[in-house]
Amino acid sequence: MPTIFDGHNDCLTRLYPPGAPARGNFLERGQDGHLDLPRAREAGLAGGLFAIFIEENRHPGDEQAFLQSRSDRFPLMDPPLDPARALQETLEVAGRLFEIERESGGAVRLVRGIEDLQWCLDHGVFAAVMHLEGAEALDPDLRRMEFLLGAGVRSLGLTWSRPNAFGTGVPFGFPGSPDTGPGLTLAGRRLVRECNRLGMMLDLAHLNEQGFWDVARISQAPLVVSHSAAHALCPSCRNLTDRQLEAIRDSDGVVGLNFCVSDLRSDGRRDPDTPLEVLARHAEYLAERMGPRHLALGSDFDGALIPREIGDVTGLPRVIQALEKAGFQGEDLQAVCQGNWVRVLGESWRPRSGS
Ligand SMILES: [Zn+2]
Repeated sequence: MPTIFDGHNDCLTRLYPPGAPARGNFLERGQDGHLDLPRAREAGLAGGLFAIFIEENRHPGDEQAFLQSRSDRFPLMDPPLDPARALQETLEVAGRLFEIERESGGAVRLVRGIEDLQWCLDHGVFAAVMHLEGAEALDPDLRRMEFLLGAGVRSLGLTWSRPNAFGTGVPFGFPGSPDTGPGLTLAGRRLVRECNRLGMMLDLAHLNEQGFWDVARISQAPLVVSHSAAHALCPSCRNLTDRQLEAIRDSDGVVGLNFCVSDLRSDGRRDPDTPLEVLARHAEYLAERMGPRHLALGSDFDGALIPREIGDVTGLPRVIQALEKAGFQGEDLQAVCQGNWVRVLGESWRPRSGS
């Protein structure tokens, strides 16, 4: 069974909901949610991108209410987030990840570069990459960029599903097109160039289609979508059209396949009794369109309603089995499970001077 690197989880949001005193423990085996270190180890999960996600109107500590609140808003667009609050809560949640690293006694490492990541994978140390899901904590003049980079943020989502100073996200619409509004702002275009220059990975999950094409035109780095699926199989606003998939392939980028049932099912229903074949069919389709080199995993653990058959992170071996049944094997399977993320992270983290 290959070890796995995963492109997206919302574990920090569950462990440390902004505004609430609750501090779940990542290092101990729990019953709640999808992900903690003991369960990750059991599942062969070697690491992943840990999102810092700030939401208006959170239901602190209540995961069911949190997941429900997402579906209740369907298909509305979220209002913009107050940037001052975004920065404050980002620092607090990031602090929790530093605490986890320290308290782990070497079992978890906050990864800042590709050598770091490779070392963790070689030595069985759980590798956490810090990701901002939405750029609200940054100011439009990007004066906070170097600080956040220096602090360990290595992946930046331009938007969540709402507008901000840099671009506009897609609403949770079904059925719907990802073409839901204007492209990047001037500040957004500047942000893309700055990320290229500094070697910050840009994540286009939740970004609308015009914003996607703006990035495709400006960026010199591979196009990365951390958690999404195929629009041709599930016409959700969050999913990627064939043209987008081809652009990702041509940039040598990657799509992390989302486990969120409403972004996988052809009827868009939030039904946990979704067979793993539905997930595997997306994997097949994405690999057909782009080649297996451009497919990876982006579970959205602790951030989405996932198939009951997966349950939590310990269901990852069943995901692998479903991929094997769909024909993935050998080097291709290894690449999908881990290698493609490692390659694209390394390429994205290489500073580029020419833009
Ligand atoms: Zn997300």
